[in-house]
Amino acid sequence: MQNCLFCKIANKEAPAEIVYEDEKIIAFKDIHPKAPLHLLIVPKKHIQSVDHLESKDQRLMGELFLATQKIARGKKLKGYKLIINVGRPAGQLIDHLHLHLLSGEPVQLP
Ligand code: AMP
Ligand code: ZN
Repeated sequence: MQNCLFCKIANKEAPAEIVYEDEKIIAFKDIHPKAPLHLLIVPKKHIQSVDHLESKDQRLMGELFLATQKIARGKKLKGYKLIINVGRPAGQLIDHLHLHLLSGEPVQLP
């Protein structure tokens, strides 16, 4: 979608420190990390938020979590937190569904 930062990152029209990519998912470092490791794991398809999911997105959401598991295993993480903000009142600033992966102490949740 035009003017969506995460669509631009997925299309390589905006810079990011990409740590994982496959056909449908991209993951990159959060520019303002809240933990020693703070990644954003993002479906390339523009979906505004969890509240905007449709039943046809079911498989893609499974792939989002399996990509997350792959990234965490690849980095040999012992544990991690996953956060998804939904809507402005919950702190969602970027209107493209994304999953925060936070690992390592200290973790100061947004
Ligand atoms: P949220 O508040 O859940 O919408 O999360 C948006 C996240 O995107 C925040 O943690 C920001 O630090 C992060 N962010 C904003 N711009 C960029 C960028 N250009 N590259 C990487 N992360 C970004
Ligand atoms: Zn988008």
